[in-house]
Amino acid sequence: MIDLIQLGARPKAGSPFVAFRYREVGGDVLLTNMLGDWVFVSKGEFDAMARGEVGDGSPLYNRLVERNFVRAKVDVDEAAARLARKKRFLNYGPNLHAMVVTLRCNESCVYCHAARAEMDQVETDMTPEIAEKAVDLALQTTSPFVTIEFQGGEPLVNFPVVKHIIEYATARNRAYGKALEFTMVSNLALMDEDKLRYLLDHKVQICTSIDGPEHLHNKQRVLAGGNAYQESVKWIRRINEEYERLGLDPILYHVEALLTTTRALLPYPKQVVDTYVDLGCRAIFIRPVDPFGWAEKTSKAIEYPRSSYTDFYREATDYILDLNKKGVQVLERYAAIFLTKIIGDDDPNFLDVRSPGGAGIGQVAYSYDGRIFTSDEGRMLYATGDRFFQIGDVRTSTYRQLMTHETVRSLSLASNLLAQPDCVNCTYNPYCGIVPEHAYRTQGSIFGRMRENQLCEVHKSIQDYLFGLLRQNDPSTIDVLRRWTTVRERTHFVQQSAAS
Ligand code: SF4
Repeated sequence: MIDLIQLGARPKAGSPFVAFRYREVGGDVLLTNMLGDWVFVSKGEFDAMARGEVGDGSPLYNRLVERNFVRAKVDVDEAAARLARKKRFLNYGPNLHAMVVTLRCNESCVYCHAARAEMDQVETDMTPEIAEKAVDLALQTTSPFVTIEFQGGEPLVNFPVVKHIIEYATARNRAYGKALEFTMVSNLALMDEDKLRYLLDHKVQICTSIDGPEHLHNKQRVLAGGNAYQESVKWIRRINEEYERLGLDPILYHVEALLTTTRALLPYPKQVVDTYVDLGCRAIFIRPVDPFGWAEKTSKAIEYPRSSYTDFYREATDYILDLNKKGVQVLERYAAIFLTKIIGDDDPNFLDVRSPGGAGIGQVAYSYDGRIFTSDEGRMLYATGDRFFQIGDVRTSTYRQLMTHETVRSLSLASNLLAQPDCVNCTYNPYCGIVPEHAYRTQGSIFGRMRENQLCEVHKSIQDYLFGLLRQNDPSTIDVLRRWTTVRERTHFVQQSAAS
């Protein structure tokens, strides 16, 4: 194949093509341009492009025109409008505000040692005063959308402060008129009917963790004196029942569950999917284990080469696709995020897969003690003794100081894929994202080195898989993939604002 490296970054003088990047996928060559348009060409066609032998009006020329690869035929105004629309998240400040209301947790998970405290460590509870200051800062964001996410530890342990935040933020928002939402990430073991009633009445989205079938879940998430899996499942079913009773569409409204793929899960891709489907979940987020929050020695027990993750991911997602073709509506979340960009011509603003990334400018994390971090990952690194990602304190910082903090600016630069040495030439540049906290934790710098970066390997392998499916162009598969890009807003969870 003729080397077109020069064309990757800049078209050669006289070349009719826009700058594009390319990669061999399944025996053909995938081309992508900066707008996120893509096309497959055969190796012979690719060579013809390199030799300048693509005649005007030829079938290949027309295909390239249609996908905005021929410079003279690109509508520049339309292209600019498309790019601006996809990057609209840059027009405003952080929308996700994670509030760590306590470090105390009633469960101990194999992948979470450094970021939790024992149940008697009440000094790790957020106070109502700190909570109010965190809310005051969160509502100053220039974003019209604000999601306050209750994190821990286990947020139900400090339920009085969860309630205080909900009531205080709702009252304060009367002056701001933001589209305000609350989300809680909980293991559900401390749920009871009173708490559930309150959360339902205040339209709080509830999200939990399910780490595969019962025996695997309970091995990873240990609930002293109880069965962690049964507790979660009991409340997932109960909450879903309540949503139905409220007349909400069960396809859209149900408890979301998160999966952490540890080594113990790798032999069971189909069983993991079946567990989610049996619980009525409509989405499975097949996330690899991440390096935050656990002690070094833990990694030896739960980590694995990312090639093993890729095999797990492919097998599980193939199975999910088969289920969809049989009428079961369930999607894989990573695939849905990438596909929204690849075939949906949009950007879902998922903070870990966007450019620049969301640290500080898309999300902020408030620790129980008032310290402010660029993300919850940054907060977990602080728990292991590294304050690199702390950008302020609710008692002293202003919103402006947080947003212009040197760490926030550095992270925006480091996660800009046009400034990353490997990403700038990568075919998947228009759809991808990197997480500087991850690079810092695993490679010692916020820029990292993508060719040896585990998260890059994950992102690349998922996009290879998806483009492999798109190249095969099987109508029933494409139909399912398109459905996964359909975004339906869950408006029930948006709080009523007196200002609106
Ligand atoms: S992170 Fe990896 S896959 Fe993503 S754009 Fe960069 S080099 Fe490509």
